[in-house]
Amino acid sequence: MGSHCESSVKIPPIKFTKLFINGNFVDSISGKTFDTIDPRTGEVITKVSLGDKEDVDLAVNAARHAFDYGPWPRMSGSERGRMMMKLADLIEENVEEIAALDAVNGGKLFTLCKAIDIPGAARTLRYYAGAADKIHGTVLKMSKGLQGYTLREPIGVVGSIIPWNFPTTMFFMKAAPALAAGCTLVVKPAEQTPLSALYYAHLAKLAGIPDGVLNVVNGFGETAGAAISAHMDIDKVTFTGSTEVGRKIMAAAAASNLKPVSLELGGKSPLLIFDDADIDQAADIAFRGMFYNKGEICVASSRVYVQEGIYEKLVKKLVEKAKATVVGDPFDPQVNQGPQTDKKQFEKILSYIEHGKREGATLLTGGKHVGQKGYYIEPTIFTDVNEDMIITKEEIFGPVMSLMKFKTMEEAIKRANNTTYGLASGIITKNLNVANTVSRSIRAGVVWINCYTAFDVDCPYGGYKMSGFGRDFGLDALNQYLQIKSVVTPIHDSPWH
Ligand code: NAD
Repeated sequence: MGSHCESSVKIPPIKFTKLFINGNFVDSISGKTFDTIDPRTGEVITKVSLGDKEDVDLAVNAARHAFDYGPWPRMSGSERGRMMMKLADLIEENVEEIAALDAVNGGKLFTLCKAIDIPGAARTLRYYAGAADKIHGTVLKMSKGLQGYTLREPIGVVGSIIPWNFPTTMFFMKAAPALAAGCTLVVKPAEQTPLSALYYAHLAKLAGIPDGVLNVVNGFGETAGAAISAHMDIDKVTFTGSTEVGRKIMAAAAASNLKPVSLELGGKSPLLIFDDADIDQAADIAFRGMFYNKGEICVASSRVYVQEGIYEKLVKKLVEKAKATVVGDPFDPQVNQGPQTDKKQFEKILSYIEHGKREGATLLTGGKHVGQKGYYIEPTIFTDVNEDMIITKEEIFGPVMSLMKFKTMEEAIKRANNTTYGLASGIITKNLNVANTVSRSIRAGVVWINCYTAFDVDCPYGGYKMSGFGRDFGLDALNQYLQIKSVVTPIHDSPWH
């Protein structure tokens, strides 16, 4: 494991720390703030306004008014698209500054934020901006002297509750299709990573998006988040986060106005590596699949099944990769893995590692925290594990891989499906028949063949089983923010009666 480096990159001054409601940055009604923390040190970056139920009410009022009376849902799709394109341009113009916010707030690698997350947000906006003027219904040829057509209308005010692991990607994965559809939004960023969301609110205003259309309320889940899911004036909630919180959101939606919810929840995703795989390529894919974003990624290939013929060789390669990983300051370009997002997550991961040892799994490499301050953990690999162990069943959401051996394809499929989750999966093989059989047999929302974490905005993404329902990305996501209305009229005095 490499050293814990220090960085020379200067963090930009933090410009936006308040709530963004109805086009203005405002203090919370209570005047309270909370600390937002730098996971490299555990120190406070700045104080951010703390939103609660009353602030959510104000934001929902603004979004409701903008939806019921404002221009956004009524303007043409191409006009909405034009403003979204402008927002995408502004994001690209400020890529360095925004990347620094996600890196300092979330412990994410600065270079990857700059190269992937932030440009990805611009691309997501442009994709849905291009779809905004292609939303249309169908003409109905009805019987009994009737004719009709369908309208696809925006669903209304959307509550978006997002996590901390990809603050930028998550923000636009939800906001871009909702905006294209003509919805208005109240976004609650994760309490760990509010900074880039506030920056996006500022840019949305500069792009000309009308006041009230995009509101951001920082705050905690049990207060601001719960107020969104229970709100009578919110028409839909979109959520990404833990399965436990997903249940609460669905219950609150059911108990209030029966608003539809879409939930993208946890995972414990299997990667199946067959004997015919190229070992170097397989090791690269498996390692990156698990340790990308320090394992804080819901699709992480946290259960790696390797066929017995190449098991020993692959284990050796993975251990070499883990030992060569430089853990340290996410602003340092030499670093491969930054700190875990917060203290709670850091302690939770270390306690899973201890649990794994107690359960009898063999710790092949890693397992310890790195450095004297901050939330750094070594890339960790366990073997001699099975599906009954907690470390193989539960989502750890940190840099911890479980490695297992299998004999036959049938056995691998059975064990891969032996989970309550169904978010993602992967197969590495040169045999097309194996790839086809496995991809149809695995119950998960995505199957990557000879690759992993291969995302694109055009590719729908979401879970089976307890990984949730609904899809982000792709045109399927746009449909989640639209309603279908049928308009019917009789035909009088016509031979077409
Ligand atoms: P979480 O589910 O608690 O938080 C996600 C979001 O939900 C945050 O914005 C949070 O404020 C909000 N929230 C929390 N309680 C709420 C409530 N009662 N009502 C409404 N909103 C609420 O996730 P976490 O505590 O930050 O992380 C815990 C675990 O969740 C992780 O260890 C990981 O297993 C999982 N997780 C999954 C993803 C994912 O992408 N699927 C992302 C983050 C975390």
